[in-house]
Amino acid sequence: MQNTIPIISTNIEGSFLLEFKGQQNWFGYNLNSSIPRPECVLVSDSEYSNSLFVRVKDLQLNELTIGDIYFISRSNLRLVYKEGSHENVLFLTNQCNNHCLMCSQPPSEKDDIPFFFHFNKTLIGILPNHIQNIGITGGEPTLYGDKLLEIIEVLVNKNPDIKIHILTNGRYFNNFEKTQLFQKYSGQLTWGIPIHSDFYGIHDEITDNDSSYFDTLQGIYNLGRIGSSIELRIVINRINFSRLFELSEFIYKNMPFVRHVAFMGMEYFGLAVKNHQRLLIDPIDYADDLERAVINLATWKMNVSIYNIPFCLLRPSLYEFSRKSISSWKIVYSQECSFCSMRQVCGGMFGTSKFQSENIKAIKYEA
Ligand code: SF4
Repeated sequence: MQNTIPIISTNIEGSFLLEFKGQQNWFGYNLNSSIPRPECVLVSDSEYSNSLFVRVKDLQLNELTIGDIYFISRSNLRLVYKEGSHENVLFLTNQCNNHCLMCSQPPSEKDDIPFFFHFNKTLIGILPNHIQNIGITGGEPTLYGDKLLEIIEVLVNKNPDIKIHILTNGRYFNNFEKTQLFQKYSGQLTWGIPIHSDFYGIHDEITDNDSSYFDTLQGIYNLGRIGSSIELRIVINRINFSRLFELSEFIYKNMPFVRHVAFMGMEYFGLAVKNHQRLLIDPIDYADDLERAVINLATWKMNVSIYNIPFCLLRPSLYEFSRKSISSWKIVYSQECSFCSMRQVCGGMFGTSKFQSENIKAIKYEA
């Protein structure tokens, strides 16, 4: 362990100075404060490869909350666990066996699994026992194979009542024997699986992989057989929007066992920017298609939601299905929003998106 403190970080809002004060403790200073006095204490919890996990103790400084965990590496300070948040995630790998046109986190070829496996196991070791829920994402988490079971096991050992949401393309589960190994965690796990169309050609075009559709479908059925909780995620774009109704029929007829269906607006970030000429569509241009698909599933009593699309781009009949889904640190509102009667309930837009709808318009209800 290197005690090369002080560390100055600009990775969090407001500059931050860490001063080493002994074997275990660092004092945090707010560099924006006119009176430089320590406002929090960070205590080293665990060491990882010449880096440190530190936990906030005692006092509070701007965005820091007691119990937060930061990772210090090469003079950078990175938040890896936010106490009290429902948005905490474990990032398992940047690798993927699909290459989706709209991926916000373009996959890499580098084998980073050994690094992230040990990183995450160390992090889980110091997570609080009262943790209620956490997400697992990537890349494609199932590229861990059996190691994914180990990650789940240490989380469940920490809190048997924990709820874990795992984003996956589902292809790993085309093998029933491998799928069965996850059965004992069915009570804790929900699998979030993107399905892009009822038609294999559209799904495979979007994933840029010729066998992904049949693998994913088989995976969904195998997970269904072991009683898993499944959330289907439909990311709407120019390639798949015109068959949303057909997809809703397909889901109702062939996958009535799924727990939740989420229709999602696009975030134009990462590969979605590069491929925007194939993908870009204003939600207002698929409003009718979305309405038919959502109302169809709701009529069949399926649990259906809309993520990432502001109210003003939806038909009023769909307002009840809209959820605030964009991570809090990504949400933005436009000037127009300050005149909108839906401002308090609207989930806003991706601040990270390169393209925004030109149809954002305040909704005005007369009192
Ligand atoms: S104007 Fe703004 S607050 Fe109102 S619905 Fe549209 S995005 Fe939401």
